[in-house]
Amino acid sequence: MRGISASALDEWFLLEKLPASIVEGTPRPAALGGVVHDEHQCRGVEALHAFESPRQQSSAAARPSLAKEAMSPLLNQLLFPFARRFVAGRTIDEAVAAVCRLNATGISTTLDVLGENVSDCRAAGAAVACYLEALDRIQKEGLHSNVSLKLTQMGLDIDRDYCFANLSRICERAAAGNNYVRIDMEGSAYTEKTLNFYYNLFGKHQNVGIVIQAYLHRSGQDVRRLIELGARVRLCKGAYNEPSSLALQAMPAIRQNFMNLAALLLQKGNYPAIATHDDVLISWTKEYTAQQQIAQERFEFQMLYGVRAATQRQLAAQGYRMRVYVPFGTHWLPYFYRRLRERKENVAFVLRNLFRK
Ligand SMILES: Cc1cc2nc3c(=O)[nH]c(=O)nc-3n(C[C@H](O)[C@H](O)[C@H](O)COP(=O)(O)OP(=O)(O)OC[C@H]3O[C@@H](n4cnc5c(N)ncnc54)[C@H](O)[C@@H]3O)c2cc1C
Repeated sequence: MRGISASALDEWFLLEKLPASIVEGTPRPAALGGVVHDEHQCRGVEALHAFESPRQQSSAAARPSLAKEAMSPLLNQLLFPFARRFVAGRTIDEAVAAVCRLNATGISTTLDVLGENVSDCRAAGAAVACYLEALDRIQKEGLHSNVSLKLTQMGLDIDRDYCFANLSRICERAAAGNNYVRIDMEGSAYTEKTLNFYYNLFGKHQNVGIVIQAYLHRSGQDVRRLIELGARVRLCKGAYNEPSSLALQAMPAIRQNFMNLAALLLQKGNYPAIATHDDVLISWTKEYTAQQQIAQERFEFQMLYGVRAATQRQLAAQGYRMRVYVPFGTHWLPYFYRRLRERKENVAFVLRNLFRK
């Protein structure tokens, strides 16, 4: 991990280490066995039960506690103001408002309904419904936005075929609006599964892209295969805490691998996305594409909502394609946690202000 000691932050952030009064105050939502996905983050959630399989209903019933997965209203209230910098809001209306503000400055977006590692079909079904609604809103309101999602939010841990059916539904709805779906890359336990899933899905739906993490040793091979397929790749450094057997650990090495992979993608790839806030990599991309006469329309920069907004506007004003990842929803904690891990100043800010209250 970069920036701050991983173990210190993990200790601080693990919900089971927080006072019992905070963690245990959570009312268990009726009939909801896994990660709490607020069904009201999107309006018009449709047919949640249509996705439920008997196997899932029984595994949900057997789950002992929500303590680790759900966040109490108090914890939510304490931390959400800090997360607000990185999260557009809890509802789709707030997210659409953020998209409109960004679109007005020439920046396109990708909407992310926050959530991951869902363990019951009801939660996965709610997430699917949110994505369908997001795609409908994008089309109806003429927004410059696509969507990004995580396979574990779509039920990958529940059943692969079920997850595949969910993804197919989202890709079809996106295709109907001439839109596009990006599959985020999660921790290394999911790399192989996600890529295999993606290869199958891409065989059926071409409006879907994937993410490659430059810190992984395997990424060179994956990028070559994806280029051969004509798949669209978002390249990022990687946000998870991975062992040295799987991932580069030092920033100079990660940057170098990022540049190697970006060069391949920019030369031979299909409209790659260069997802970074790192000035070294942004400058390198600008210089490399100018030198190689790669037109600005052949790739895009991507950044996260709330991170380096001035640079986002500057790149757009310089004629580069700029897309911002706009997350929203009630399940914001793991995402917020990763943003804190990336920068020790963020942790210090939260801690200082939390204890000042
Ligand atoms: C659009 C997009 C999609 C992504 N999708 C994935 C994904 O699917 N899977 C995955 O593993 N990772 C994903 N990431 C995260 C990525 O892997 C990195 O963890 C993250 O972008 C930080 O790396 P960096 O290249 O920006 O460089 P860093 O060296 O981390 O940051 C460079 C500079 O950017 C600023 N900055 C960076 N992060 C923060 C922050 N959290 N708060 C405040 N300032 C910050 C600081 O000024 C910092 O000095 C995504 C990133 C982006 C931009």
